Amino acid sequence: MLSFEEDERNDPERRWLRKESTGNGSDDEESFSDDKILLRKTREVAPDRSLGGSEIVKEDGINIQRTILGFCDACGDRLGEEIVVCRLDGKKVCPGCAIRYEHRKICPDCLMRKKPLSKHEFEILTCYAKGLKRRQVHEITKIPIKEIKSAENYLYDRGYISKRLLEGFKITADGIDIILAYSQVFKDEQIANMKTEIDSFLGPAR
Ligand SMILES: [Zn+2]
Ligand SMILES: [Zn+2]
Repeated sequence: MLSFEEDERNDPERRWLRKESTGNGSDDEESFSDDKILLRKTREVAPDRSLGGSEIVKEDGINIQRTILGFCDACGDRLGEEIVVCRLDGKKVCPGCAIRYEHRKICPDCLMRKKPLSKHEFEILTCYAKGLKRRQVHEITKIPIKEIKSAENYLYDRGYISKRLLEGFKITADGIDIILAYSQVFKDEQIANMKTEIDSFLGPAR
């Protein structure tokens, strides 16, 4: 765990804490002559699955604002106000990394663990969803025919495609679900280009 203290004089975010009056007066040792107590601030990286946050702790008579910084367990970005907690393993991820799958939000790790799909398999499945034939899939994705064939077996075993005649496959409902889930994982330029190519290949009528 990382921990460091900041020099509050140089900290633009420095805050003064106003001690709240509790009104019961029983807390003499805890009260202060001055109602403004300068905080020392510490910042730590939140451990896995911790949401982070801020709390005031007291050490040697000094109030310390302990800020636990939360980072997305998937991409590592600093977490803001919006945090998604994976429904399966409790990891915390940013909204950009959360995957919507079967009506719940999960993290990319859980999707890949539970329903593994490689990028090539995703590309091939996307092509079959559009009704392309194996040869056309190869032309668009440049994936070797041999690899396409073995991917077909995998996709068929998983129930994402059903067999059809003439080297074509029909996408199943599970196949559509998995495409929707993985289109939230594979969203780079190459995939966008592939979709454009498929569309121009199929022509404006489709
Ligand atoms: Zn993220
Ligand atoms: Zn998860």
